[in-house]
Amino acid sequence: MLSSVKGKSVIVTGGSKGIGRGIARVFAREGANVAIASRGDAAAAVACDEIEQEGGGTAYHVPCDVSDWDSVRSMVESVAARSGGVDVLCANAGAFPQTKIVDMDPSEWDQVLATNLKSAFLCVKACIPHFDNAKKGRVVLTSSITGPVTGFPGWSHYGASKSGQLGFLKTAAMELARYGTTINAVMPGNIYTEGLQDLGEEYLKTMAASIPLKRLGDVEDIGHAALFFASDEAGYITGQQIVVDGGQIIPESLEAIEEI
Ligand code: NAP
Repeated sequence: MLSSVKGKSVIVTGGSKGIGRGIARVFAREGANVAIASRGDAAAAVACDEIEQEGGGTAYHVPCDVSDWDSVRSMVESVAARSGGVDVLCANAGAFPQTKIVDMDPSEWDQVLATNLKSAFLCVKACIPHFDNAKKGRVVLTSSITGPVTGFPGWSHYGASKSGQLGFLKTAAMELARYGTTINAVMPGNIYTEGLQDLGEEYLKTMAASIPLKRLGDVEDIGHAALFFASDEAGYITGQQIVVDGGQIIPESLEAIEEI
């Protein structure tokens, strides 16, 4: 049994859908006060209702574009004012359009890097004034296996952004230590989310077949890993990452996966 996050103020960017929604649900179930930061209202309202109905903690939506500094700063200030500070930041929002390098407009590269990588810097920067040494702040980034470990055609920008998050993580861990705050990353494999569904049935089917555990991950699989990093018990872990992928990166060949 891990220490409780009951009553803690938790920001989950991209908490209105997919993995972020799973993270928000897992933290709220443990009694946290969760701020869902995303651009759209409708999906966020559904995610907040779902949490309220399940009981435990609470959830509210704060509109935010994580690629924009003013928007991030105002989101964090509003959470701190409403919830009495910020204890945990789950910087999870991200986008993964699929375009090969030869076809990619440079503006798409900038957009993906801003949404997935610059956003981590902006969110951490905005939270620093609220990380209080006594309260043991926590940051959990949602990176990916794509980039740091694997490649996939169409995701050069995405992979670069997800590897970049891990580069950011190492120095951020050193700089946040003085505030008593840890920062770690979860590296999901293929998790069944709204965003992944957009890639089509064929993608989902072949991905599931390439995973030793023979299923896509559930959003709460990532939520539980994030909850661990946010616990007191993980207080001596910082600057690290954990792969949560059903064993997807293990097989050396098609033959190896077909044998099991
Ligand atoms: P998703 O289902 O498409 O949900 C994305 C979430 O991010 C939504 O809540 C979206 O809300 C929010 N978002 C996107 N752009 C934003 C912006 N500029 N500002 C604020 N919020 C923004 O995606 P997902 O599959 O759950 O992925 C979530 C994270 O996990 C991403 O970082 C992704 O790279 C990572 N990941 C996913 C997988 C997977 O298999 N699904 C695997 C590895 C890593 P709005 O559009 O309303 O803003």
